[in-house]
Amino acid sequence: MRMAESLLDELFAATHPGDAALIGDPVEHSLSPVMQNAAFQMWKKTYRDQNRPVPTYHKFRVRLEELPRAMELAKKHRLRGLNVTVPHKVAVLPLLTALDESARSVGAVNTVVVGSGGLKGFNTDGAGFKFALALELGFDPSGRTALVLGAGGTGVVIVHQLIQMGAAKIFWWNRSLEKMGKMPDPSGKVQKLSSVAEVLRASLEADLIVNATSVGLKPADGLPVLGLSFKEGQFVFDVIYHRTTAFMKEAVAQGARVSGGLPMLVYQGAESFKIWTGAPPPVDIMRMALIERMKNL
Ligand code: NDP
Repeated sequence: MRMAESLLDELFAATHPGDAALIGDPVEHSLSPVMQNAAFQMWKKTYRDQNRPVPTYHKFRVRLEELPRAMELAKKHRLRGLNVTVPHKVAVLPLLTALDESARSVGAVNTVVVGSGGLKGFNTDGAGFKFALALELGFDPSGRTALVLGAGGTGVVIVHQLIQMGAAKIFWWNRSLEKMGKMPDPSGKVQKLSSVAEVLRASLEADLIVNATSVGLKPADGLPVLGLSFKEGQFVFDVIYHRTTAFMKEAVAQGARVSGGLPMLVYQGAESFKIWTGAPPPVDIMRMALIERMKNL
């Protein structure tokens, strides 16, 4: 414990005031530093006082028991902000001074602003999904029907976002049914599905189908629901961002308009950048940096 704390202290001691960091466990695989450092470089060139150093975006592995210390260190070293990922998105809530509505509504935080008054939590995953839907697929969920597969952190955010965007009906399925039960639905628009047969029926009715499960992460993964089918003109979104999944391939083959998760990743990062800096995020630069890095994976 003592050693782990001192390692974390050392990591934060190497930062500079104004830097940002991703904290989670694991974080090795994360590409957030690639796009955020590209954005900070651009910020320096275009918007920022040229005499001050460019902020650096770090990634630090922080175990659950180290989370309170990590928040103290972020304040002590005057970081501008943090991104928070698995498994800390909910655990971080009691350590914050204030919560933006984006985080309060979903009960999870992925972005923290470190200010003189304390730590404020935001959630930019919903905005990332919203911009990806609009700008990548050209889809407006208002008055439409959606089918969302998955009720992990990402699935919950996406269902909330679709309600906020005025979807008329949201079919929702998760492999473990009890997870969906936890989310209150004052909108009355969410219809929880309990069988694969119901999912297959809903997929025929849906204008939009979202895979928010982690199925597709591995190259050998198939569809999140066996027998799922798509139709021409349907909009299909997969949160997986580093490969073309079986879900995406099948949807394309059946005539749907399809997007992978990369735009969502870019836009959620762009929203974090905007929150930390107040500057317009260089979205294209962030996206290009990610694409370049992925080519070399
Ligand atoms: P969680 O671990 O919180 O949830 C995982 C979800 O996948 C659960 O609904 C789980 O169901 C489901 N699942 C896992 N294995 C299977 C399976 N074999 N069959 C059916 N369902 C399964 O993860 P997150 O919600 O945080 O992330 C989900 C995915 O979204 C990840 O792949 C992540 O990389 C991606 N992601 C993409 C983002 C982007 O910007 N594009 C942003 C954030 C995440 P159960 O509850 O039954 O276990």
